[in-house]
Amino acid sequence: MKFCILGSGSTGNCALLESAGTRVLVDAGFSARKTAQLLGTVGHSLDRIDAIFLTHEHGDHAAIVSGLQRHPHIQVFANAHTARALQDRLDFKPAWRLFETGARFHFHDLEIESFSVPHDAQDPVGFLFSTGQGDLFSPRRRLAWLTDLGHCPQHIHERIRDVDILVVEANHCTELLKADTKRPWSLKQRIGGRHGHLSNQSTRALLDAVASPVWRHVFLTHLSRDCNSPDTVRRAFEGAAFQAGCHLSVVEPGMSTPLHDFA
Ligand SMILES: [Zn+2]
Ligand SMILES: [Zn+2]
Repeated sequence: MKFCILGSGSTGNCALLESAGTRVLVDAGFSARKTAQLLGTVGHSLDRIDAIFLTHEHGDHAAIVSGLQRHPHIQVFANAHTARALQDRLDFKPAWRLFETGARFHFHDLEIESFSVPHDAQDPVGFLFSTGQGDLFSPRRRLAWLTDLGHCPQHIHERIRDVDILVVEANHCTELLKADTKRPWSLKQRIGGRHGHLSNQSTRALLDAVASPVWRHVFLTHLSRDCNSPDTVRRAFEGAAFQAGCHLSVVEPGMSTPLHDFA
């Protein structure tokens, strides 16, 4: 399994996931042109992307769909509520592949599971991707994708325990959000609310509670530009027990990570 974050934050979230048999994007919150440019930096192109998996309809996760008319070979996986919300704004039909939240399904050599997350969208989900036979030549690798959720119910703890790669948001610092003067009170309530985004503090509490010895790489993503910073995140995660034997990447807004090979 190869993986990199192409971009993260409120201006767009997108990652590339590559298995032996397929290449997909997890969320695609940039225009098709920008996504193609980002893929170019890791030696790929939209022509070689087989599918996109969408967590929810917010623009910072799904902006690419309006440009998919020119890339009809790309299949777009979403649940019905998310697909409907996006289709309403389009005058063409992307190659939708609908899944039911909670169901397990396959795409090429990937096994995918989705699970509900509490966020202010139609039917937002997190994803688990697995690949590999589990033998010497094809080890089993798993990745969990968990962004855009206001709090983390217990059932999600179980979802992220048994993965090699965990992508989770660390959206804002609660103090910086409180002190922020750019955002109206109602928006701050939304961001910090039960259906908003995880703060550094709540993500730290989640990772401390689960602290799986299986984790090899944790990516902290979707950082707010105004109400967070990579240094603030690093400070919030200092001394966390889960970091022993696990690589931690704090993804700066608007930055990509190198393509990691989790062989
Ligand atoms: Zn969202
Ligand atoms: Zn988002």
